Amino acid sequence: MVIGALALQGDYEKHLQTLHRLEVDAIEVRNEQQARSVDGLILPGGESTTIGKLLNRSGLDEVIRELGREGLPLFGTCAGLILLATDIEGSDQHRLGLLEVEVRRNAFGRQIASFEADIPFQPLPDPVKGVFIRAPWVNKAGKGVQILSRYDEHIVAVQQGAILGTAFHPELTSDTRVHEYFIQLCQKRKSGNSTG
Ligand code: GLN
Repeated sequence: MVIGALALQGDYEKHLQTLHRLEVDAIEVRNEQQARSVDGLILPGGESTTIGKLLNRSGLDEVIRELGREGLPLFGTCAGLILLATDIEGSDQHRLGLLEVEVRRNAFGRQIASFEADIPFQPLPDPVKGVFIRAPWVNKAGKGVQILSRYDEHIVAVQQGAILGTAFHPELTSDTRVHEYFIQLCQKRKSGNSTG
């Protein structure tokens, strides 16, 4: 199994380090061939407008949309969650539009732009440390979207099928459990594909 991290801009190296720590094969994804070779793709934190433009310019947006619709597991953190969303409040920036949520960018405001908090993550029995950096939150989630975490009543982690999104950055902590959860989604898909 190979997991990719979209490597156009942002903190993709941190995700790759986490995957290596878990002894999972992991590659940087910058082109169509690489995108089509992975069993799951991580969209990192960074600047969603920049990543969106680069996705659009390279044509990778169409490829990832197609793969996502076919069920390729996707995991977006922070800017990655924004890129996955169908709706971005007050913005017409480029996006993939695969996850039925409306997000608000930089939602926690200037005063508390970056902070850490222990937050629940529904698939896990114990809380995880949420590192929030100019993070979005989810304003509205569509019917098929499961809410995995809230902080201060705001939705900060969601899942729709094999698409996972967190407003926080698990790759910036030493706790690998959220990545392990994503890897399980990738394993499930891979074994489903090979037996079906
Ligand atoms: N504020 C950034 C954006 O809107 C996201 C920040 C992050 O990914 N840490 O794109």
